[in-house]
Amino acid sequence: MNGDFSKMWINGAWLAGASAPRPVINPTTGGVIAEVPEASVGQALDAVAAARAAQPAWGRLAPLARGRIMHRIAALIREHAEPLARLVVQEQGKPIAEARGEIGGAAEFFTYFAEFARRIQGEILPSDIPGEQIWIQRVPVGVVVGIIPWNYPAALVSRKVAPALIAGNTIVLKPHEQTPLSALYMARLMAEAGVPDGVVNIVTGGGATVGAALTSHPGVDLITMTGSVPTGRRIMQAAAGNLVPVSLELGGKAPFIVMEDADLDQAVAAAVTSRFMNCGQVCICAERILVHERLYDAFVDRFVAATKRLRIGDPLSETTDIGPKVSLLELEKVERLTAAAIASGAEPLLLGGRPDIAPVEGGFWLTPTILGATSADMAIMRDEVFGPVVPILKIGDFDEAIAIANDSQYGLSAYLFTNDFKRIMRAVQEISFGEIYLNRIGPEALQGYHTGYRSSGPGGDDGVHGLEAYLRKKTVYANFSGRSQHGLMPYGN
Ligand code: NAD
Repeated sequence: MNGDFSKMWINGAWLAGASAPRPVINPTTGGVIAEVPEASVGQALDAVAAARAAQPAWGRLAPLARGRIMHRIAALIREHAEPLARLVVQEQGKPIAEARGEIGGAAEFFTYFAEFARRIQGEILPSDIPGEQIWIQRVPVGVVVGIIPWNYPAALVSRKVAPALIAGNTIVLKPHEQTPLSALYMARLMAEAGVPDGVVNIVTGGGATVGAALTSHPGVDLITMTGSVPTGRRIMQAAAGNLVPVSLELGGKAPFIVMEDADLDQAVAAAVTSRFMNCGQVCICAERILVHERLYDAFVDRFVAATKRLRIGDPLSETTDIGPKVSLLELEKVERLTAAAIASGAEPLLLGGRPDIAPVEGGFWLTPTILGATSADMAIMRDEVFGPVVPILKIGDFDEAIAIANDSQYGLSAYLFTNDFKRIMRAVQEISFGEIYLNRIGPEALQGYHTGYRSSGPGGDDGVHGLEAYLRKKTVYANFSGRSQHGLMPYGN
């Protein structure tokens, strides 16, 4: 393993944890690949204090100077792309080609947000009184806490850190306890790029301990979290006690609608990638496929055939399409959901499971399963699976597709494959999701706005709207008339 993972980065110093280190498991082998510090609550609080102390100077730097450091971080990530990609594979299990894409994204977040150095603007407003000027300027929120999941352990570091930095904030970031290695590796690159002490702090440790301490801290100004709905709920409750704003990117149950006029090959290829990339562990993955009855049989035939062609194996191999699940716990969760779906009447159109011969001994392997759903109300059609298992439901018409798509606690991503302009425009108006993909799949773009409705979480990342969360507004009322102000003017005068 390339790198030293025995220390975390707090206030510019490399520190061991206060208790026994936590082992990191390689999901391909089930073996321990590193041990990382387990921060104490006290160390988490130290990190917040360091971020608080460092913020004023960082916020006062010219944005261009902050941007220069960010460009250096991007360059270093690109320089270290291959070892970083391999690290992501080893801690998380996605195929190396996908990991390279993730690292490309991790660098791009810094480049993209560095470009805002000259673009964070305010507004000048007409005053009601001669000799006075009003303006609104955007200022840093202050100290940000970032909490991220395990499915994109490198890209999500950048997704939180880059907008925080260009806005003039400091940040304490906690990676997922199962996948902290790329965050620690990137911390060394950030230090090398010249990030001042305390501006970025990477604290490793448990969610219920370190995560809870950070998110219930009264002295932070923004919590940005990507993860599951239950954790999002807990964080929102903790933050409510201190009235700290939260931005939550939570789970999804993306409907993938294929109408009878769709290009079948295009829709099948898109569905395969969208469901099985990263072993199905992507928040925008196709989680329920709705196919028009006239195309259903042909779609199922081709989808099953294409899925069977996917090569499951060592994710470090260039020819692997599907790596292991991230952990045994996640694998067992997906198995339970699948068994319950079959017990409640879902028809196995392709029955996967743990392979008889493991591609690599000890890994958390699960081959794809495709289920014929009997109703939109089945749990497998409603609950997030986050694995290589997908239900397909036959639909009669477009109205039914839209109604089923919208009848969900989730509202992150939705897909529609059709060449009918009227349906496309209706979908844009009527599908109540934060992100709609028409005749294409993700990933989402840096300049977009990744946002979910309902339980997919209040908040959003990326683009100008994502950056907005990291800034607050300050209104300035200035009197340059040389006269003193006489009394209060009523509104409208
Ligand atoms: P998770 O909620 O279990 O963990 C996410 C993070 O929260 C981890 O760092 C964890 O340590 C931390 N945490 C746990 N308990 C905490 C607490 N009490 N206080 C503070 N922090 C705590 O999620 P996961 O299993 O890592 O990720 C999978 C989920 O993430 C899926 O539901 C997926 O859809 C979602 N996800 C969403 C997006 C998105 O952009 N919307 C992207 C990726 C993943």
